[in-house]
Amino acid sequence: MALIIERDGRLIVRAPMRAKDETIHDFVKHKEKWILKKQEDVRAYYPRFVPKEYVNGEGFWYLGNIYKLQLADEKKPLLYLNGNFQLARAALGKASIVFERWYREHAYEVISERVQWYAAKYGYSYKQIKITSARTRWGSCSERGTLSFAWRLVMAPVPVIDYVVVHELVHLQVKNHSKKFWAKVAVIMPDCQQKIEWLEKHGHLLNLK
Ligand SMILES: [Zn+2]
Repeated sequence: MALIIERDGRLIVRAPMRAKDETIHDFVKHKEKWILKKQEDVRAYYPRFVPKEYVNGEGFWYLGNIYKLQLADEKKPLLYLNGNFQLARAALGKASIVFERWYREHAYEVISERVQWYAAKYGYSYKQIKITSARTRWGSCSERGTLSFAWRLVMAPVPVIDYVVVHELVHLQVKNHSKKFWAKVAVIMPDCQQKIEWLEKHGHLLNLK
């Protein structure tokens, strides 16, 4: 049996199909002290993600900053960033779609620019850039040289975006995560560990729902 504490503090118990309920309960009871301690640690370390409700004053990430939402009476544009995120009240019924579209457009713009800059500077050539809905992978690199990035990545600070860009560019040459791969990443970005840790700690917050 295994106990897993999720980042929001939820406890997941993995048990074999044949395990009796009583055995599972005893096991959890026996580990109670450990569970409570772990949950406390996790809750203290990881800020909690709250699904968006699209109410005035709610915060939305963009390039590592959090901008407040302001509902606007004007109907067009549906959403724009002007110190705050201004969302047309008329769009409230489809706010998550409108936000996702906005993030996708900006992700494409920002990430393309970063990829081009690093590719030119370090002599990498890629085929095209795609923006995806991936929930757990920030980026990927196909056999044919297509670089894909999750739209949610544009919520992260630019240096963190740059790390994911560099990571995928290096995959054009080294497909695995060998020592050789990390050595190449480190040449371009010696402090990449810091960015990896930022993503580890904040990645689950870069989301709408
Ligand atoms: Zn990789």
